[in-house]
Amino acid sequence: MLGCELPGARLVCRKSGQCYATDLRIWKSPVGGLLDLEFPARFDWPRIRARPPTMWRYREALPIAGDQNMVSLGEPVTPLLAARLYGRDVLLKLEYLMPTGSFKDRGSSVLVSRIRELGIRRVVEDSSGNAGASLAAYCARAGIECDIYVPASVPAAKLAQIKACGARVHRVAGNRQAVAAAARRAAGRHYYASHSWNPYFVHGTKTIAFEIFEQLDGRLPDALILPVGNGTLLLGAYLGFCELLKAGCIDRLPRLVGVQTQRCCPLARAFKDDRSARGKARPGRTMADGIAVSDPVRAEQCLQAVRQTGGTFVTVSEQQIVDALRELARRGFVVEPTAAVSVAALAQGRWEGTVVIPLTGHGLKAPQRLARLLARKKCKR
Ligand SMILES: *Cc1c(COP(=O)(O)O)cnc(C)c1O
Repeated sequence: MLGCELPGARLVCRKSGQCYATDLRIWKSPVGGLLDLEFPARFDWPRIRARPPTMWRYREALPIAGDQNMVSLGEPVTPLLAARLYGRDVLLKLEYLMPTGSFKDRGSSVLVSRIRELGIRRVVEDSSGNAGASLAAYCARAGIECDIYVPASVPAAKLAQIKACGARVHRVAGNRQAVAAAARRAAGRHYYASHSWNPYFVHGTKTIAFEIFEQLDGRLPDALILPVGNGTLLLGAYLGFCELLKAGCIDRLPRLVGVQTQRCCPLARAFKDDRSARGKARPGRTMADGIAVSDPVRAEQCLQAVRQTGGTFVTVSEQQIVDALRELARRGFVVEPTAAVSVAALAQGRWEGTVVIPLTGHGLKAPQRLARLLARKKCKR
C-alpha cells in the first residue's frame, strides 16, 4: 500500500536479527521468528496535554502513518484510583472501563488501525475470550472481516461479545495450544492479528505506561503488579516505560511483577529455575481463564523484561483469587477472576513504595461465576 511505511521504523526478527520494511503485510519473519517493531516514539507534552483524554493523545508515539486510518471506539484514559486493600494503600488502574471491558482494547485499537492502513481486509485471531471480543469490536468498527478461534470452554459473555460484533467464531476442542494451532493454519490465508505474535499489539498496550506517568505528575510508581498469560500487558508496560526512559522523561524503570496462577505458571517457574519457559508446564484448570496460557510465545521476552526491571513473578492459588475478588467487590470494584490475581499477589508480599495494580477485565464478563464464587463460605482452604 502506498504511503503506509512508518518513517524511521522497522520490523526486526528476534531469531535472525534481520530487518524488514514496515509496509510489508507480515506478522512473522520469513524464517518463522517473532517480529518486534522498532519505532521512534516521540512525546510532545504540551501538545499531548492539550488533547482529549484518550490513549490517542500519545499520537506521535503510536505507529500509524495517517490519522485517517485510526480506528477508535473512544478508549478513555482509564482512572487511577487510590484504594486500601488488605490493609495496604495501592493505586488501581481501571482497565476494565475500556470499550469492550478489558485492556486488550489498547492493543486492538492500534493493531486494527495499522491493519486498515496496510489495506488488509480480513484477519484471524485466537483468544480465550477478551482478545477476541476486543478484536471483533474494532474490526466491526473498521469494516474488516474477522475469524476468531476460541476454546470450547470460552465464557458465555465473551463469546456473546464476539458474535454480536459479527465475527465468525470457530470453537476448537482441546487446549489453548490446539486453538492457536487452528488459527495459525487459517493464518496461511489471512493476516494473523494475534495479540501475542503480532508486533503492533504491544504498541497499543504500552500506552498504559504513558498514562500512569502523566497521572502521577511525572513521578514513577515503584512497582506494577500485573496478571500475565501471553504477557501483552507486561510487555506493553515494559515497552512504554522504556520509551519514556529513552526520551529522557524518566530515569529508571518501575519493577514489573508478573502474577500467574499455581495451576498454570510457566513463566513463574522458568523465572525461578532460570531456564526457558517453553513447553515445560502441565497446566490445570483455573478460574483465571484470561491467563491460562501454558506456552506463551514471547516467554523469553517476558522473563527478560521482568529481570531488567528488578521485578519478579509470583503465583496465587484459586482460593486466594476468590478472596481477592471479595476484597475488591466489597469496595465496589467488580472484576472478572483473571483481573483479581494481582490483588491476590498483593496479599502475599511485602511490597515497598507506590504500587499500581491494573484491573484488567470487567466483572460483567463473568456474572454467574462471580455470584457463585462470592457466595461461597469464606474460610474454606
Ligand atoms: C488477556 C488478559 C490478561 C492477560 O494478558 P496477557 O497479554 O495474556 O498476559 C489479564 N487479564 C485479562 C482480563 C485479560 O483479558
